[in-house]
Amino acid sequence: MGIDKDKGWSEVRQNLCAVKSRISEAAAVATRSPSDVNLIAISKAQKANLIAGAIAEGHRLFGENRVQESEDKWPALLEENSDVELHLVGPLQTNKVKRAVKLFHVIQTLDRRKLARALAREFDSQGVQLDCFIQVNIGEEPQKMGVLPEAADDFIAECRKDFQLPIIGLMCIPPATDQVGLHFGLLSEIAERNELTNISMGMSADFEIAVRFGATHIRLGTAIFGVRPPLS
Ligand SMILES: *Cc1c(COP(=O)(O)O)cnc(C)c1O
Repeated sequence: MGIDKDKGWSEVRQNLCAVKSRISEAAAVATRSPSDVNLIAISKAQKANLIAGAIAEGHRLFGENRVQESEDKWPALLEENSDVELHLVGPLQTNKVKRAVKLFHVIQTLDRRKLARALAREFDSQGVQLDCFIQVNIGEEPQKMGVLPEAADDFIAECRKDFQLPIIGLMCIPPATDQVGLHFGLLSEIAERNELTNISMGMSADFEIAVRFGATHIRLGTAIFGVRPPLS
């Protein structure tokens, strides 16, 4: 009826609908309220037009993993949709902090002291305070970003005390194993003992397990937008 600007839109609409009902079922199994699970649509590598389809569908929470790519796509979308919230879920280099703080609303990948200092300075100079998640390298994988689990308590305390950053939760990207629940459980424990109420974990392949282990933010790309086109 004229609303589809692209054949991709109807697929995104159906996917969003299907994902939401799966979240509801997973929440019910865990005796949690589905409204306590925030669905972040990860739109990396997706075209602005497809993202616009998700926004037209009423979706308001998005995540991207690259600053440069986000600067190409998001200023125009945010201009037209001021109630959209954009999370950075990819690694952040200190030389891109200024640009990231200008564009994003939430930083999910704070993982080292140098970045904490850079963010605190930039918040001061731009007069803003973005909510931050600390990324934990929950599977202790050498190739992955994040503070190690045994160093997490100290790093959280440093970010709070030394830099007065608004730390609201923890984030992880666990190893792809069938033991993913162990990793999710560990992240929940670290969050709980540090009185952090937000837990960002769970992607397209494992979000139902993450919901069972207390995820408050799940990050879904493929399940919403379909297979990612290769980055050009
Ligand atoms: C790409 C990405 C996702 C989404 O992955 P899917 O498997 O497509 O759901 C989630 N989190 C991060 C940090 C990502 O980079």
